[in-house]
Amino acid sequence: MAPTGMHLYFGATPNNQLIMKVAQGCKLVLVVGFAYTFLSFMKRSSFSRLGLLLAGFWLGPPVSLLAQTFSTPATVLLRPAAVFDGESLHSGWVVVVTGDKITAAGPASQITAPAGTRSLELPGLTLLPGLIEGHSHLLLHPYNETSWNDQVLTESQALRVARATAHAQKTLLAGFTTARDLGSEGAGFADVGLKQAINQGIIPGPRLLVATLALVATGSYGPKLSVDVNAPQGAQEADGVDGIVRAVREQIGKGADIIKVYADYRWGQGEPSRPTFSQEELNLIVQTARAAGRPVVAHASTPEGMRRATLAGVETIEHGDNGTPEIFKLMKQRGVALCPTVAAGDAVSQYQGWRKGTTPEPERIQQKRISMQAARKAGVDLVVGGDVGVFTHGDNVREMEQLVQDHGLPPLDVLRAATSGNARIFHLPDRGSIRPGLLADLVAVAGDPTRDVKALRQVKLVMKGGVLYAQP
Ligand SMILES: [Zn+2]
Repeated sequence: MAPTGMHLYFGATPNNQLIMKVAQGCKLVLVVGFAYTFLSFMKRSSFSRLGLLLAGFWLGPPVSLLAQTFSTPATVLLRPAAVFDGESLHSGWVVVVTGDKITAAGPASQITAPAGTRSLELPGLTLLPGLIEGHSHLLLHPYNETSWNDQVLTESQALRVARATAHAQKTLLAGFTTARDLGSEGAGFADVGLKQAINQGIIPGPRLLVATLALVATGSYGPKLSVDVNAPQGAQEADGVDGIVRAVREQIGKGADIIKVYADYRWGQGEPSRPTFSQEELNLIVQTARAAGRPVVAHASTPEGMRRATLAGVETIEHGDNGTPEIFKLMKQRGVALCPTVAAGDAVSQYQGWRKGTTPEPERIQQKRISMQAARKAGVDLVVGGDVGVFTHGDNVREMEQLVQDHGLPPLDVLRAATSGNARIFHLPDRGSIRPGLLADLVAVAGDPTRDVKALRQVKLVMKGGVLYAQP
């Protein structure tokens, strides 16, 4: 079938309505892939001018902006009330975008934009780098809708991918222009295809770093059914020298940007997590991935799992719920960052019956607060990532809100971590800050998120690679 995208974005389909709703009143302007497809088509067409005029009529001014982009890179001057550049807030700054890059940023009086530059007035808004989600699962949806077991066992790949495309849209329109997606959880290599679809402009979504299957020690993960049934697993089982080297290489060969390993897990229902892979196995995973230029990240919540992962040389530890001062000290020494995923633990506890603010805090939540304090005291770098998918996609800001409200982090620190911090830890020097030469991945929100992260709920503009997906 011909460009299906046209139906998605040019017609009043339910999808379109969904986008409008998710954007919370933001006007959907255009989506790069469809725009390019459309413009490529129009370029070949003798009716190109008419087509562009029509597009302008349908979608508003930014299409003509993109029409310029198509021939010579268009320049746009963004005039917000203030700019958070990834480090600090500057009122009265403007930002110039040419094509897909930021070309200037600074005080309005010092920036001269070239003739013909379009101005985008953003009164009352703070412009900031596109947020970076540190831990997502686009192929999962909240466990209070469908349990993880049932998602892995009963939902088809097609259903899961269809959902994931909607999740990707919601993530982008929530202001997250990059996401580190840490495991397809039984959906095979679908994350690789999802990333390609976004990069090719077939669907809107954040730039993705994908982990594909993730690695688990045989017998340690799930779903677990009768012993007589070999249930499909939520990750790839691998053990020993040959098995591990092969699995890591296979995942990389099929498109993994990151290798994720489960360094501990509960071996049976109702028992606590225990280490899974041996130190030698973890070392081998890191060594094999590193040779291919891929970082390794570890799911770990036990002190011993975290210790082995840290010694092996993983770059981030996910969750870390039972981390001790000694472990966090070791992580700090070895330069291993913690992605605490506080929102996931909070959500799961609520799914299990905790009524936050009403019933007493579960032990798990209390423990998390203690370990977070220890991590901060040790000076461990924090990745902002909520394990979104456990809770609703598009609600990614929940992690940032809880880091402030429940764990006492200053809003400015959380905002830095979700932009320049995540970019540094994920080796993404082309984003996470607002300065010339970086990708034009920008978000504008109402209010000042450096004082109140809740302002991040008021996303009014989303730009990725110079293309507007939402504007006031
Ligand atoms: Zn996760």
